[in-house]
Amino acid sequence: MEPLTEQQIRAAFVNCSKGEAQRLSVPRDLAERPWAELDYLGWRDPRAPERAYLVIELDGRVRALALRCPTAATRQARPTMCAMCLTTPAAGVSLMVAARAGKAGKQGNSVGTYLCSDLSCSLYLRGRKDPGPGARLPETIPLAEQIQRTVTNLAGFIGRVTA
Ligand SMILES: [Zn+2]
Repeated sequence: MEPLTEQQIRAAFVNCSKGEAQRLSVPRDLAERPWAELDYLGWRDPRAPERAYLVIELDGRVRALALRCPTAATRQARPTMCAMCLTTPAAGVSLMVAARAGKAGKQGNSVGTYLCSDLSCSLYLRGRKDPGPGARLPETIPLAEQIQRTVTNLAGFIGRVTA
């Protein structure tokens, strides 16, 4: 993906208020992120580990999601597969929940998905980060198609948030 600025990221949130989008913690090392190898930028709030954020560009539009995830203590012991990149990383997979955009979200509606706890799907797919033994099933399709599949999965999730 193309590098994004803090301002672009804050302006892209679809499921939280403008005030929250201004206050939430955006990584300070944006310039050092490996943008060319990222399908989305994801991070956890260092001050509030149960909060995670995800930013992706789809059809030329930058979309950002605010997510909630259980703390380590409530994480499932059984290995779970990330619904986006189909990895079962040693670092774990978390159920991440997004309030739905607009009125539905204000009424308390949310949607969830299983996602790599460290939001490193892009790096696992590209072999840039070791997910641990047996974490990736042997794939018969090329990397480009695995990436496309992951982006399609992410687009589907964002579609459920904004529907
Ligand atoms: Zn993943």
